[in-house]
Amino acid sequence: MYDVLISGGGPVGLGLAIELGQRGHSVAIVERNLEPPRIPKGQNLTQRTMEHMRAWGVEEEIRAAKTIPRGVGLGGLTAYGSLFSGYHYDWFRRASVSQYYAAENERLPQYATEAVLRARLDALESVDFLVGWAVTEASQSDDHAEMLIEREGETRVLCGAYLVGCDGSRSLVRQASGITESVQDHNRPMVLIVFTSPEFFELIERFPDKQFYNVLHPDLDGYWMFFGMVEWGQSFFFHAPVPPETNRESFDFAGLLHRAAGGEFAVDLDYVGFWDLRISQADQYRAGRIFIAGDAAHSHPPYGGYGVNTGFEDARNLGWKLSAVLQDWGGATLLDSYHAERYPVFASTAHDFIDRFIRDDRAFVRKFDPAVDRAAFEVAWGERSKGGSDKGIAGYAPHYGGSPIVTGSTEDAPSAVGKHELSARPGHHLPPLSLGNGQSTQDSLGTGFTLFSETATLVPGEFPVTQVRTVPEDAEARHVLVRPDGYVAWAGDDAAMIPRALHRASGR
Ligand SMILES: Cc1cc2nc3c(=O)[nH]c(=O)nc-3n(C[C@H](O)[C@H](O)[C@H](O)COP(=O)(O)OP(=O)(O)OC[C@H]3O[C@@H](n4cnc5c(N)ncnc54)[C@H](O)[C@@H]3O)c2cc1C
Repeated sequence: MYDVLISGGGPVGLGLAIELGQRGHSVAIVERNLEPPRIPKGQNLTQRTMEHMRAWGVEEEIRAAKTIPRGVGLGGLTAYGSLFSGYHYDWFRRASVSQYYAAENERLPQYATEAVLRARLDALESVDFLVGWAVTEASQSDDHAEMLIEREGETRVLCGAYLVGCDGSRSLVRQASGITESVQDHNRPMVLIVFTSPEFFELIERFPDKQFYNVLHPDLDGYWMFFGMVEWGQSFFFHAPVPPETNRESFDFAGLLHRAAGGEFAVDLDYVGFWDLRISQADQYRAGRIFIAGDAAHSHPPYGGYGVNTGFEDARNLGWKLSAVLQDWGGATLLDSYHAERYPVFASTAHDFIDRFIRDDRAFVRKFDPAVDRAAFEVAWGERSKGGSDKGIAGYAPHYGGSPIVTGSTEDAPSAVGKHELSARPGHHLPPLSLGNGQSTQDSLGTGFTLFSETATLVPGEFPVTQVRTVPEDAEARHVLVRPDGYVAWAGDDAAMIPRALHRASGR
């Protein structure tokens, strides 16, 4: 009997297995693909995701696996009409929030990230990685959960105390556990093209330090066409809406690339695939002993690169909670707090960012058209350019204020909308704050809770607490209690609150 069964060894399942394996838990993770598919998918890894990579012991390996030379900028831009039309502004400048995180952001194809995470599993003895096996059934009883797995006619049953479906947007685990999902369908068939073109690389050298390029076109009513770099100097991906019934044979994909770019270039098509533009979210992230995480819980178009990063945060959030309950210091409500924290954060990501991008861009292209009134268009485009560079970055600061396991927050409910600040706020991610001795808070975080306090405090013995006898300079509190996932559980001046905040943060 394993502690945890994981269905799906994509990025999120792998991250969760590492989180649990590092905490010493026995885990079986089952993945049907022998190798990660060579589709670039989630490429932008945020600063927060790179904090996870550091916690999972693979930060350097991830940076070494990147396909773009070190030192080249990772920014994006938005253009109007076509990529080379002359109308463009910086978009999604992730570097603008770097000071609030302990690690720089990164960019590499998802298959390269998965290869690094797979290799990390080899070093974790308590994790069994069953690759080439498919999960065909998932079920649970009062005291355990089960997965039936199959490979080439052979079947096995695996048992675990808990089961997590990290098996992507068509999740078998979600369906088998009776979890429903809510879907906002945009009825937009989309194409993904991966292509090789050194000539296109030469053309985009006019945009140094940019790696992804959105194009707004009046005909597309706010939906984007977008290019992204995959292999430096060589290959790219491209997404765009296509007419219904488009198939590989019936459509001029090179012509579409040329129209979107606004210029001709030689191109070899490496891959053409189709997907439907929809935003879906599971109505519950937990059903008894079964949980879902990553795309199994939420999926959406890759507008803003929230997908894989949101999934990694699910894994980090759920991992320490499962561990706490398995180690008997986590209480009855801790596992419910996974849904209570992560569900509203994605609901807000979908509504306040992804869907808002589409709504805003639609309103813009409907109102302004250089072919109708160039002067009015240029004034409006200039206005957009000013706010465009930080849109979706500065205001995106997921927090758990109002969570049942956070003490003393000022917000009513968790959300993706927030403000970055260099301070320790209950429910918020702890930024790297100076400890005044040349070190920052992030250098001192333990694997359990971390208590920053100048006074020695007697903490209840059942909780894993690393005590640091100094307080961050900008904390604005005399005591700061940080959770195993790097979020602030409580911050305040009254030391008598510490045991209460610890009990609450542990779901007891
Ligand atoms: C074309 C495309 C482009 C994208 N671009 C971006 C982007 O630019 N930025 C971004 O952040 N996100 C992007 N995404 C989204 C991102 O790829 C996902 O959010 C991410 O892959 C989610 O990871 P996951 O582990 O939850 O799911 P998945 O990556 O889907 O992994 C699920 C895994 O489970 C396995 N599995 C499923 N069912 C079973 C079963 N029954 N038995 C065994 N194994 C099973 C699958 O083989 C797979 O390996 C893109 C997605 C697509 C499709």
